Amino acid sequence: MDTNNLKELLREQYGITATSINTLVGYETLNFRVKTKSKTYVLKVYDYNQETLEVIKGESLLQKHLSKLNCEYPLPVPTLSGKEFLIHNENKIIRCLTFLEGTFLADVDHSDELITHFGSTIAKLNLSSKDLYIPALQAKQINWDLSNSHWSRIDLDSITEPKKRSIVDYFLLQFDIQVRPHIQSLPHQIIHNDANDWNVLCGDDKVTGIIDFGDAVYSTRISEIAVALSYVMVGKENPIHIGSTFLKAYQKINPLTESEIDSLYLLIAARMCISLISSAKSKKENPSNAYISVSEKGYWQLIQKWITINPISAKTEFRKACGYTIDKNTSTKEILNQRNKHTPAALSISYDRPIHMESAAFQYMYGKDGTTFLDAYNNIPHVGHEHPKVVAAARAQIAKLNTNTRYLYDPLQEYSEKLLAKFPDHLDQVFFVNSGSAASDLAIRLARNYTEREQHIVMEHGYHGNTQQGIAISHYKYKSKGGKGKLNNIIEAPLPNTYVDGFVNDPLTTGKRFAADIISDTKDIDNIAAFIAEPISGCGGQVPLAPEYLSILYPYFKKKGILTISDEVQTGFGRLGDYFWGYEMHGVIPDIIILGKPMGNGHPMGAVVTTRAIADAFNNGMEFFSSFGGNPVSCVIGSTVLDVIAEENLQNQAKKSGEHFLNSMQNLKSEFGAIGDIRGLGLFLGIEFVHPHPTEYKPNTKLAKHIKNQLRRRHILVSTDGPFDNIVKMKPPLCFNEDNIDQVITESKYILSSNQN
Ligand code: PMP
Repeated sequence: MDTNNLKELLREQYGITATSINTLVGYETLNFRVKTKSKTYVLKVYDYNQETLEVIKGESLLQKHLSKLNCEYPLPVPTLSGKEFLIHNENKIIRCLTFLEGTFLADVDHSDELITHFGSTIAKLNLSSKDLYIPALQAKQINWDLSNSHWSRIDLDSITEPKKRSIVDYFLLQFDIQVRPHIQSLPHQIIHNDANDWNVLCGDDKVTGIIDFGDAVYSTRISEIAVALSYVMVGKENPIHIGSTFLKAYQKINPLTESEIDSLYLLIAARMCISLISSAKSKKENPSNAYISVSEKGYWQLIQKWITINPISAKTEFRKACGYTIDKNTSTKEILNQRNKHTPAALSISYDRPIHMESAAFQYMYGKDGTTFLDAYNNIPHVGHEHPKVVAAARAQIAKLNTNTRYLYDPLQEYSEKLLAKFPDHLDQVFFVNSGSAASDLAIRLARNYTEREQHIVMEHGYHGNTQQGIAISHYKYKSKGGKGKLNNIIEAPLPNTYVDGFVNDPLTTGKRFAADIISDTKDIDNIAAFIAEPISGCGGQVPLAPEYLSILYPYFKKKGILTISDEVQTGFGRLGDYFWGYEMHGVIPDIIILGKPMGNGHPMGAVVTTRAIADAFNNGMEFFSSFGGNPVSCVIGSTVLDVIAEENLQNQAKKSGEHFLNSMQNLKSEFGAIGDIRGLGLFLGIEFVHPHPTEYKPNTKLAKHIKNQLRRRHILVSTDGPFDNIVKMKPPLCFNEDNIDQVITESKYILSSNQN
């Protein structure tokens, strides 16, 4: 219909003489602003069908019902014959509505006074329509109803940027797990469902009108608030404050239940998810429609901020605003006491102030007290805490089949192939187990069996596991407190640490010299089964084995029939940025590789990868069986972890973030003499603290501990390690980005500047 047709129709049917007709931006309907000499109207044109017609009638009923409130709502303008809509040519429905003057909420600053008034206005709107029964709205089903957030999942892939997609996926999943099961028990009524800041008019710090009833549905009352808040929270330093201000006002007029308030954090997220998926989809289908993505940029910022807000702190603030009691936290001391009853004291706890954790998302961990911690330490949730793809894969498979390798099932073959594709062709055998310890234990068995020898060369400060065998090959354990010392079949290789060695020798020759020593120490021994080392020593203090060390030793070992074992439990799966496996950085290829920690993103998994010859030799009649190793759930999880690393380009993220860290830390090093060395690769990093400006190696254990505990107080998680416990270690989930690095640097600088030690 062109504007001339419309003018004619307006004159004939409504007696309105339009002086101008302009198209208004809109989602699904065609909207026009009609001006006469003295008045303005809105004309809406819909495609005809019976359902739309019934819904429009319902909207009109709702609008008329609300007109008694002290706030303006558009009202149907009747035709000359008294009808509230027209059916044109049997294929269009036409409605004329009053036009509301005012400034959009989107165009003004949001003072507390305005947000308070917004809260009361929405409360009155909801209260007034509480018992309305309008069948067409009652029956209406739309994807913008937050209860239907799962409908949007089908179009999730329209979001093309994988990391952004994962955040949306995460919130949809959390909503499904935490809100959906009890959503039917929340109070329901007809709601406007779209009080976004382009649908709310205001003036003088007051809301004056609300337009666009196109999304009105029968749904959860709290969804009304979630939608309204999601828009006014955009761009705010403290969105929770906006929420509390709104709720305080709402609660006075139309009290919410505790369950409603407790669902709000995820309902707000759900609105963002629906909208972000919808705009991504529309953009794909119709790149030129700007209205569709009007909220997109703001929502991306808000959802990325939302993930940094501990859900408990949001819940607590929202509850406080509504006058409800706050869940009382058990004190850390009490929990420690409870734990100590049944948990042996040999298990340790991090930090001088232990943390009681509740949940986590990607690189953030949420403490029970409402604190959000930036996790710069935990390498087990490799692709991010509770990554939605991993969680979804685990849920689906555990609901389908979980058995053991004595049966045939597809996930085992699929995962084995995917994993082994990451290794040179001849490393084509994989044993699955459930931990790094089980893997290192098995690796040693394989080596002994194949070589029929019994001795092992182990690296000083190395750690490979908690089994009897694991301890026997872990200098870090058998030589430390409580350790029983070296067994006779163990040969120790000093750690080729260029930083420490550099105080007395030329660090450029460390690798060569240390390798030469091993060669000379072992040349007359012919009972050595294997050499085991990590490419970068974690417990040694994030020490990359000196250049040339392994590249000299590996060929020597090969000649002597000694098998090489690379423990990739810490360094594997792309963490090092430049390399998928740590041995690659040394230009060598081991005979046996141990995998663990990141493999299952927290699900207990380990593996030993080796050659067919070594695996075949192990087939000596004794069955190898691991009850859980290689079960379908683990395989599906492991496979998903590999997919996410690739999809989200996490190896490259590790490289970028790691380089950014090393560069930024160099600046701190020139400022603070106590930073002796900064090292590592990708997101496997260490800062070594020493007594300032040393001429000999003087580790500063106290300072490293101070930094660790202070960072924890400032909500950043790191750890310390090394023979003197003077190295601050960082090995975060690989989604740790450059902004996160900046946060670590800023806080470290602050702590170092205020340090009196
Ligand atoms: N090897 C290395 C290098 C490790 O860091 C660890 C665990 N810290 C292990 C093996 C043992 O793995 P798990 O704790 O899964 O048994």
